[in-house]
Amino acid sequence: MLVDVFAVHRFGVTRRRFLGSLVAAVPAMVCPGYCELGWLQGMPHAVLKIQQPDWESLRKHGEETYPHECCGALLGHIQEDSRAVHEIIRTANTKGESQDRYSIAPTELIRITRVSREKGFDIVGFYHSHPDRPAQPSHTDLAEAYWFNRAYVITSVKKGKADVTNAFSLLGNEEKKYFAQEKIQVVRQII
Ligand SMILES: [Zn+2]
Repeated sequence: MLVDVFAVHRFGVTRRRFLGSLVAAVPAMVCPGYCELGWLQGMPHAVLKIQQPDWESLRKHGEETYPHECCGALLGHIQEDSRAVHEIIRTANTKGESQDRYSIAPTELIRITRVSREKGFDIVGFYHSHPDRPAQPSHTDLAEAYWFNRAYVITSVKKGKADVTNAFSLLGNEEKKYFAQEKIQVVRQII
């Protein structure tokens, strides 16, 4: 099987095609010391389905907290090849004034987990904003991500205006984890 491997670094994004069996060796091959944002492995993409009002709300949240990062949780259902967001929950960013960090308080995460369970939902992912930075995961985003097979949605907010929004799945395991970009499908309603 051939897979596309994307390396995101200060010079842009490079893509190389490898045999699946070689992928484990790829980070050292495509990121020889200058990789700023980690690497993204092309995978069969999951689709993140989100309703228009939730989509607009999470993007607007980033504008409201600009120039600081916003964050929140996505509740819904996880299916084999898609995640359906039925509801978003805005949360406080415990990193407060930070422009490049976000964190959800453990107590708030426990509350969200309980609310999610009561409504029959799963936590399908999280979102945050990148004020005046690209909608790509940072080293810190990867280091602090531990919800595997969940979506991490990032909105770039340029000069206070929401720009690009991307979604990534956290794949792999504790020893070797990585983000794979997934498609976002904005729908009128999720039933
Ligand atoms: Zn980030």
